[in-house]
Amino acid sequence: MIELIKESVCLIKPYNVLKEEIDIKLDANENPFNIFEFLKEKFIKKISNLDMNRYPDTDSERLRMAFAKHVDVQEENILCANGSDEIIQMIINAFVDKDEYVITHSPTFSMYKIFTTIVGGKVMEVSSELSLEIDVEEIIKEANTKKAKVVFLCNPNNPTGTVIPREDIIRVIEETKAIVVVDEAYYEFLGQSVVGLINDYDRLIVLRTLSKAFALAGARVGYAIASEKMMDVLYRVKAPYNLNIFSQIAAELFVENIDLINVYLKKIIEEREYLLEALKKMDDMKTFPTGSNFILIKSAKAREILATCRKEGISLRNFGEDGLLKDCIRITVGTREENNKVINLLKDVV
Ligand code: PMP
Repeated sequence: MIELIKESVCLIKPYNVLKEEIDIKLDANENPFNIFEFLKEKFIKKISNLDMNRYPDTDSERLRMAFAKHVDVQEENILCANGSDEIIQMIINAFVDKDEYVITHSPTFSMYKIFTTIVGGKVMEVSSELSLEIDVEEIIKEANTKKAKVVFLCNPNNPTGTVIPREDIIRVIEETKAIVVVDEAYYEFLGQSVVGLINDYDRLIVLRTLSKAFALAGARVGYAIASEKMMDVLYRVKAPYNLNIFSQIAAELFVENIDLINVYLKKIIEEREYLLEALKKMDDMKTFPTGSNFILIKSAKAREILATCRKEGISLRNFGEDGLLKDCIRITVGTREENNKVINLLKDVV
């Protein structure tokens, strides 16, 4: 059976997800607050009369309307999916053939490369400098020489937290012929978006998710925002009934309760600044600027930091033994109590 595997899939290592029970989980950029607790009763009421023998609404119409209102676009500009992961895959399926190029900056979110590799496409990764700033000049050059089909810009970038200036994004759209995907998974922690440009540029797709600021990672809901012309293409590759009935209802409820989400968003941003200040004061510890809900640090004692935290039931995300992110660790911002535990442990190690 295994010899029947596609050559392209042989190149992929399965995505590494932590499965152990952990006390303090700061490795996946989730929201530390379980906002569902406040919305549980409303959710249960909404699902109690469902016709579970029927498929869900194939186009998540009610949710599309809620998202359209939330981001101030038309319903026709929205597509809902099983996390933004599914939309990344749809984009690759729609635009990238074997041996065609996708351009990303590096380091960045790994699924752009994984989905491209699966279809036999090629990924050109434009390396960032040590400052971790994104080299748009080089991205534009590579996109044009490789006749790239898609360029992914992750803003703010995961795992570095780097913010890409708006004018740089516009340059990539204007100076290439590629589909430009701006992944705004962490938008809410930054507050800057290029959504307002979707009707100026048909080739622009903006990705959002409810897995981060909205505290709904368990429901797997993401959405794309793009021109109607672009949506005509994306809907061709969308599987029917892709988003299950519970996730559609939960997502709609969370978007309707944006005021509650914003209360916790404000707390996370405050906690980010608190954690960042404490980390900056530590010896031999480099912190990188972040527009997100995580902080990338670099320390010669990275291994010890990881081991000590692990022993104390705290998971952080390790970023490689070599390359640009050698000795780097990504820490998701937690609650005050969680952040204090991390700060105290790190103080002991460094
Ligand atoms: N884009 C980025 C930049 C991410 O960091 C993540 C999740 N880690 C995703 C997309 C996928 O999010 P979702 O849960 O919506 O699939």
